[in-house]
Amino acid sequence: MSRFWSPFVKDLVPYVPGEQPKLDNLIKLNTNENPYGPSPAVLEAIRGELDASLRLYPAPNADLLKETIAEYYGVTTAQVFVGNGSDEVLAHIFHALFQHSKPVLMPDISYSFYPVYCGLYGIEAKALPLAEDFSIRPEDYRGENGGIIFPNPNAPTGMLLPLAGIEQILQANPDSVVVVDEAYIDFGGETAIALVDRYPNLLVTQTLSKSRSLAGLRVGLAVGHSDLIEALERIKNSFNSYPLDRLAIVGAVAAFADQTYFQQTCQAVVTSREALTKGLEELDFVVLPSAANFVLARHVERDGEELAAELRAQKVVVRHFRSPRIEQFLRITIGTPEQNQALLHALGKLL
Ligand code: PMP
Repeated sequence: MSRFWSPFVKDLVPYVPGEQPKLDNLIKLNTNENPYGPSPAVLEAIRGELDASLRLYPAPNADLLKETIAEYYGVTTAQVFVGNGSDEVLAHIFHALFQHSKPVLMPDISYSFYPVYCGLYGIEAKALPLAEDFSIRPEDYRGENGGIIFPNPNAPTGMLLPLAGIEQILQANPDSVVVVDEAYIDFGGETAIALVDRYPNLLVTQTLSKSRSLAGLRVGLAVGHSDLIEALERIKNSFNSYPLDRLAIVGAVAAFADQTYFQQTCQAVVTSREALTKGLEELDFVVLPSAANFVLARHVERDGEELAAELRAQKVVVRHFRSPRIEQFLRITIGTPEQNQALLHALGKLL
């Protein structure tokens, strides 16, 4: 801190991202990346773009990508917004679409960036407790609020709220923007994008970081009513009129085009998740039912933080959160079958 800092910056509590250790011999299962890597077609498209020209600015509206997404989801380009990862898209949503004078509703165990954005924009974050079984209770999302946000599947629980629950929240809050953060939807959920034409207050965000294995490229998107999208465009254009760089645009377009690779790798993650869940249960872990590319699991006897540290000493990195109710849990990203086997083997030695 220095005397040059504004009071606003002094009070900011920034987000702390998961550790990105050097990979030498580490099995990295801590930040929900996809173990399979992007489609070869994506790499080819990016190489082609490198050979073209980085001298030129990118397309100001990333039109090609918006058209690709609009066609993929059967919406219009006016219903699509893109940004540098869904984190940036979410930041613009908090800025442009939530009423800053009223509390924003979110689950108490959820993506820890939401309270950070609330702090950034001076919004009160109202955390609603999950049910006993860690599911979201749609009936609690009601009353005066400046907006509603939750991941589906939720993170870090991995648990899915069926579309009927989302509709219940939308119907109870016709005057609030309801944001469904679908960062992990492709690993077992049904997207709420099908509902955007019926609910003008619904905004769905997604990312190419997980199911399309492009965390390093930073591409996220939002789909909703064109009025909501227009507000996001206004904010974005007030910061920077180029939503994405040239490599990100061509890479993302190629990722949506290679549906076969996408389906195969998502299926491989799902199969691997089922095998890992079974393996963990055999080692006396309680595993929450996950529709994501990670599981949240607690050993019946061992302390979560200690276990994470012992695994780290065995060169397996998983995530531990100190938050209430989940401090005994480990969040484990689904790896390849070989990585999962190595994790189970390391756990077998520690238990
Ligand atoms: N939402 C949730 C629930 C997440 O877990 C993440 C990943 N940390 C994000 C959004 C952001 O992902 P990205 O910025 O890579 O699109």
